[in-house]
Amino acid sequence: MADSVSRWFGASGTRSVRATRPYLRREPLNQTVKDLVWNRAGGRCEYCASNEFLEFDHIVPVSRGGSNTYRNIQLLCQTCNRRKGSRL
Ligand SMILES: [Zn+2]
Repeated sequence: MADSVSRWFGASGTRSVRATRPYLRREPLNQTVKDLVWNRAGGRCEYCASNEFLEFDHIVPVSRGGSNTYRNIQLLCQTCNRRKGSRL
């Protein structure tokens, strides 16, 4: 009797167990960090010195443990950023 009750609860309990998915949230960049990176880069792409379509890019990707710190962010134009992304 006790055995059948515990088995019943066990069966219903498994329904609430969900597979946990590793989900990395992209934290928005701090404005201070953006300003610092922008000033360091002089408002230009740090690869090709273009000043068009600039984006803030993580040097070490967030998925690999990179952080939103000044040292891990660089200013890239869209072209360089895409090129970097496709290489990885
Ligand atoms: Zn560039």
